[in-house]
Amino acid sequence: MRRPVVAGNWKMNPTSLREAIELARTVDAAAPDPDAVTTVICPPAIWLAEVERAVSRVEVGAQTMHFADAGAFTGETSPSMLSGLAGFVILGHSERRQYDGETDEGVGRKVVSAVAHGLRPIAAVGERADERSAGTTAAVVDRQVRAALGGLERLGGTGLVIAYEPVWAIGTGDAATAADAQEVCAQIRAILADLDPAAAPEIPIQYGGSVTADNAAELFAEVDIDGALVGGASLKPEAIAAILRAAAESAARE
Ligand code: PEP
Repeated sequence: MRRPVVAGNWKMNPTSLREAIELARTVDAAAPDPDAVTTVICPPAIWLAEVERAVSRVEVGAQTMHFADAGAFTGETSPSMLSGLAGFVILGHSERRQYDGETDEGVGRKVVSAVAHGLRPIAAVGERADERSAGTTAAVVDRQVRAALGGLERLGGTGLVIAYEPVWAIGTGDAATAADAQEVCAQIRAILADLDPAAAPEIPIQYGGSVTADNAAELFAEVDIDGALVGGASLKPEAIAAILRAAAESAARE
């Protein structure tokens, strides 16, 4: 069956290459058997090459990319620049949507481009607090997932990962309950089955939003939660090691 994916989104941290290499080596040493759990670290793009050289068990991912191969896009990184360097790329993270104007349509273009370049997309979706209070979580997630995947001919063989990240839970310490996260992840699984019935059971769906050493095991026990996208805790060696242990224990029970 599907293998859980635990990905650390370092965002714009740490602030020196030395610390980045040290953190990468620490996570590499703590990573479970890659046949049981896929561990990914996503450092700032400027350090991808050095971090990639410093690890052997974990995979490296980028935090975003442009959809085009090359061109007049100041400050951007292209998928062809990433291929060979990163195995994964996070696309549509809520911070990119909020601060960089990333749209559903743009995320869809990037997903197609990532797959065409052999990069495994981690497509991030999730509702804001006001959308949850308005009772539109299901509609928002449905729209975002279908927009992210609409350009793919099929889902099987793409290496796709979906990250369900309720925006109100990111960096707030207010994680979704395991039951609430499971409900949305089950909805996402149903959308995947609608798009590609054969591939849907194989696609990892992560939960993200204030995952910690304390709540990881409960989240991973849910049937449609296959790992996590981790922000703050991915910078803390003990916390990420405990989250990885929880993922390995959950995988061993299945
Ligand atoms: C994230 O930024 O993707 C994230 C889940 O952050 P945190 O774990 O800090 O909530």
